[in-house]
Amino acid sequence: MSAQLSLRVPHDVAGLVARLHEAGHEAFVVGGCVRDALRGVEPGDWDIATSAKPEAIQTLFRRSLYTNRFGTVVVQTGDREVEVTTYRVESDYADHRRPATVAFTESLEADLSRRDFTMNAMAWRPSADGGELVDPFGGRADLERRVLRAVGDPGERFAEDALRMLRAVRFATTFGLEIDPPTARAIGAHAGLAAKLSGERIQQELRKILAVPTPSTGFRMLADLGLLRVICPELEDCKQVPQEKALALDVFEHSLITLDNTPKDDLVLRLAGLLHDVGKPDTFDGGHFFHHDVVGAAKARNILRRWKFSKDEVAQVSHLIRHHMFWYESEWTGAAVRRFIRKVGLESVDALFALRRADNAGSNRFASAGRMVSLEELWQRVEEEVHSASAFSMSDLAISGHDVMNVLGVPQGPGVGRVMKELFERVLDDPDLNEREQLLALGRDIAARG
Ligand code: ATP
Ligand code: MG
Repeated sequence: MSAQLSLRVPHDVAGLVARLHEAGHEAFVVGGCVRDALRGVEPGDWDIATSAKPEAIQTLFRRSLYTNRFGTVVVQTGDREVEVTTYRVESDYADHRRPATVAFTESLEADLSRRDFTMNAMAWRPSADGGELVDPFGGRADLERRVLRAVGDPGERFAEDALRMLRAVRFATTFGLEIDPPTARAIGAHAGLAAKLSGERIQQELRKILAVPTPSTGFRMLADLGLLRVICPELEDCKQVPQEKALALDVFEHSLITLDNTPKDDLVLRLAGLLHDVGKPDTFDGGHFFHHDVVGAAKARNILRRWKFSKDEVAQVSHLIRHHMFWYESEWTGAAVRRFIRKVGLESVDALFALRRADNAGSNRFASAGRMVSLEELWQRVEEEVHSASAFSMSDLAISGHDVMNVLGVPQGPGVGRVMKELFERVLDDPDLNEREQLLALGRDIAARG
């Protein structure tokens, strides 16, 4: 209990707690929202734990829905939904995943003791008399000294649910916490259990780690705790491969620096930065990494599919990795620049340059200085081409396949595509040709040639 402490709970949420009290039940806001309120951060959602059973909760709140067997009633209040959950304990973690059964309990402390970390195992009772913090495991002190600590025996807790190990790294990364040594050791001892986690649950934690300003912290932690070799052996293997002879830097470290240099709100670029060189271990011949872009794109696709990222995210990341090794010389003609844009796709150009800038920032300073100059020179030339409104795909042509059929009289079939393709090549060489009458005249010649 704390006299001075006061947590700000929204009026409607405090109202639900009061309602449960008036009906003779215990009720507290609990878990992540108490933690966030103590940190001075507005919680994303508010959860309530209560001694009331689901039927009693439903009777009290008309706008409520009991959807599962875990004791959680979703109550509608104001414009939010609050999860009101009966005190419960969990058992039978048969597969190191979710509990097979839950049992209700009369004890708030029993409910708090099933939660993962001390900072997540606190409850707060808002009331007019100032409120009350229930903190049986010292979560508040841990938060203040910035330590993440498991509730109870860390090894048992990780054996119950392997996801907690990834949550530990996620919380340590996003909040800037130290993992308490016994908790960290227990992760090391149980890391292998993460092999059973579903891709979706892994993805959820990785997305949060990737959204911090310096996500390398999280991935270094995953590696140091032994989790990376379980969830992503492809990245772990990068530790064995030298990045540049002149530098004591391995491909894993290079990947992390590249990752940190991608924009924090761009998940696709972050994943591309992290994975852009995963093709290197398999292609290293002692000096070069031939085709590591092709091999890496395929590996990244497998990794991201395993983690159940969306089709679109997988495609974009692997496309960027496939093309990240582009090169350039000042002698390139305008047509060569336009061909480059066509090859990587106009819609990918910005991201590809962002990836390459991050990649250079993660490379040998002296070597990359020269690379940067020519990279920015190519960027300038790409911008010029884009602004002069050149055609970079067939759909940018001033005539369509319909014109080829209807105006030029080419019968439907492969002949139409052949004419369009040749017109497109001609326009890439000379953008001035991209004008309806000229293209129709050219097309007539091409069709006549057969
Ligand atoms: P976030 O900020 O991501 O919402 P959170 O801690 O609130 O973090 P939730 O998934 O919303 O995470 O869970 C709410 C609470 O439920 C947690 O604070 C914790 O007390 C408990 N909890 C969630 N997942 C687990 C787990 N895997 N094992 C034990 N307790 C858990
Ligand atoms: Mg939450």
